Amino acid sequence: MNRKKILLVSIFFTSIAILSGCLSTESHSAKRTITPDLFKNKSGADQIHTGICIIGSGPAGWAAAIYAARANIPTIVLTGGVEAGGLLNKTTAVENYPGYVSVQGPALMKSMQEQAIAVGVQIIDQLAVDIDTNHWPFIIKTDEGMIIHALSVVIATGARPRKLGIPGEEQYWGGGVTSCAVCDAPFYKEKEVVVVGGGDSAVEEAIQLVPFASKITILVRKPQMRAAARMQDRLKTNHKIAVKYDVSIEEIVGDGTKVTGVKLRNHATNKLEELPTSGVFLAIGHDPNSALFKGKLPMDDEGYLMLEGRSQATNIPGIFAAGEIHDKTYRQAIVAAGYGAAAGLEAINFLMESGWTAVIEEQLFGKSGQKAAGEQKTAHSGQVHEVASLDDFEQNYLNQKLLVADFYTPACSLCKKMLPSLQSLAQTMPDATFVSINAQKLPELTNRYFVSSVPCLLIFKEGSLAARNSSFMAEAAVRRLIEELA
Ligand code: NDP
Repeated sequence: MNRKKILLVSIFFTSIAILSGCLSTESHSAKRTITPDLFKNKSGADQIHTGICIIGSGPAGWAAAIYAARANIPTIVLTGGVEAGGLLNKTTAVENYPGYVSVQGPALMKSMQEQAIAVGVQIIDQLAVDIDTNHWPFIIKTDEGMIIHALSVVIATGARPRKLGIPGEEQYWGGGVTSCAVCDAPFYKEKEVVVVGGGDSAVEEAIQLVPFASKITILVRKPQMRAAARMQDRLKTNHKIAVKYDVSIEEIVGDGTKVTGVKLRNHATNKLEELPTSGVFLAIGHDPNSALFKGKLPMDDEGYLMLEGRSQATNIPGIFAAGEIHDKTYRQAIVAAGYGAAAGLEAINFLMESGWTAVIEEQLFGKSGQKAAGEQKTAHSGQVHEVASLDDFEQNYLNQKLLVADFYTPACSLCKKMLPSLQSLAQTMPDATFVSINAQKLPELTNRYFVSSVPCLLIFKEGSLAARNSSFMAEAAVRRLIEELA
């Protein structure tokens, strides 16, 4: 190629590069203009308007919310129903969050929530089930039928525990297979259990099981664990915990209702061996909670959202993301909080660039939108009776026309999440009686009714068991079930 040709070719590619650079910049900084009529024809009892809606309530969500609300922008956090509070709610001691030598995960999340409330964030304990990214203001629908119109959205939906995908896993889920030691450990008193995984979570789960199980075997598929050295040190001093390296779990076996063992492939010998166990605790990593955004926002082949350059922006102007929904590198609470702060600041900046002013805020919101949801949240305060003993249960409650029995353990965050729904139902469904049963305190009751994981809801009709549900249930689902049985 002569010099002239080389010059022409390089001019051609440079032009394409500049043009595509312009186009990609254009796509995520395209202008939106906030006008006073943006929310016109978008009102009603189930509709709310907001400046910034944050989907998710882990460290990323709370950090974004705190920044947004401190900029005086109406800010809503949709906490996410089942997984509200994020993965930290299922952790015990956190020793790497600056500012704390050691803090319990749920306590850290509680203090973030309290800080958000203190700066004026509005909390809605519901799950986002749909988002319309084509309309602006964006439209988010929740599992309880609420519609939120938001000028900007921060996605902070985090990640969820991964499953093995092997025979027996689904069949015995809740009957010995679980991913929440902090919730279910009390059911394994004096029993032998296994924990699957070699990361920090596996160490955490094993340690959470120590006060209950008689023996805990961690099953690691490689010849070494990847957990931090300090975490591994915690195992060495514990005689109840053993680590079995170089094994893969191929099947979970049981007697039809509960787990009795696992089939393991030993990589050194390539032989299959069976290890008897009563419980299988999974700690094999996480997958991003991005199903809601499939086909709407760019994501990689593992489902992590892809962001524009070094920013928290998605390719849709006004929609940002933060935390484990896009970060597969660090996956640390403090990093998620940092991303959340950045996303909050970018969302604020987006509103400012789109014409946000105090005058327009007054025209758009007054005070009504924020109040509507606030009222909704505090409207219910029904009574759920705490059962004191097996006798108390059988003599005072069991023979009611319809009895809803909620089994919980004090550390179970999903159980805490269900309580307000049950209180609300207790107030609005006078034909049913609602009781709570502390499974840790009353093993005679859990044994009697074969409860082996929480949350667990049993519904009795005139003394006979009529329905059982061994997972989290939203208020609407419990209501439907009760109505069907009534
Ligand atoms: P990780 O991704 O760090 O570890 C997952 C583990 O599961 C790995 O050992 C992996 O094996 C193993 N694994 C994956 N798939 C399978 C499978 N199919 N069968 C058997 N084993 C499998 O996830 P974690 O949840 O442990 O940790 C996530 C993040 O959260 C980390 O950054 C961690 O530091 C942090 N964390 C911090 C805590 C704390 O500070 N208190 C507590 C818990 C988590 P392999 O190594 O072979 O890939």
